[in-house]
Amino acid sequence: MADAAARARSRDVDAPTDDELAGAAALLEGGDPVAALEWAVARFAPHLTLACSFGPEDLVLVELIGRHRLPIEIFTLDTGLFFPETVALWREVEARYGVKVRAVRPAQDLAAQADAHGPELWRRAPDRCCHLRKVVPLEAALAGKRAWITGIRRDQTPDRATARTVERDRRPGLIKLNPLVHWSHDDVWAHLYLHDVPTNPLHQRGYPSIGCAPCTSPVAAGEDPRTGRWRGSVKTECGLHVVADPGVAPGPGGGAA
Ligand code: SF4
Repeated sequence: MADAAARARSRDVDAPTDDELAGAAALLEGGDPVAALEWAVARFAPHLTLACSFGPEDLVLVELIGRHRLPIEIFTLDTGLFFPETVALWREVEARYGVKVRAVRPAQDLAAQADAHGPELWRRAPDRCCHLRKVVPLEAALAGKRAWITGIRRDQTPDRATARTVERDRRPGLIKLNPLVHWSHDDVWAHLYLHDVPTNPLHQRGYPSIGCAPCTSPVAAGEDPRTGRWRGSVKTECGLHVVADPGVAPGPGGGAA
């Protein structure tokens, strides 16, 4: 795989044709995530990246990348508002798997954002805050890439129900790879336990879905796992994942953060 990466670095990577993508999608849909990752490496490295928020699904992918020594860049959208437990997990994962998780940060730190937009923007305008601290940095992280990898699963939210393993992103020329899209919550946790993958201790304290500290609260038994994100607001998504181009070979695709 290292040789493949070296070869890939020495060449530009063309965007796949609809026929090529349809063939790959048919081959990989609902299959082994490692096969999907290896296909992406062979086809797109080094213009390939994993967006990691240190949630359970992303940790499965980091574990697979580390164990199989796949040359895939990993980044996280560091909003400056992570829980301390998330920051500690970030360092632990890097040490455990010998990977670097690159911090992609907003243009403004929290003090500059407060000066420009007022304090605690997330309380008054969470969509604006997510746009500044997540969506814009994501665009920068994906600039120059041919493919990005996410840990979304179809049963997480209605918006993700039509996501495919391989699909065109709404961004022209970009492919979106969702290797765990067909996995269940139990599939993910079985993998994490089997491979002794470190996870966020907040999961044991009632936080099934963890984002920025100001916008994440514990969830009571029986509540939907996403209820703790932007509790009390109609907002359910960061805006990182949007519907992929419809009508393109792999299918409708799409999802949400
Ligand atoms: S999750 Fe909350 S704090 Fe984080 S970027 Fe979005 S609105 Fe801001």
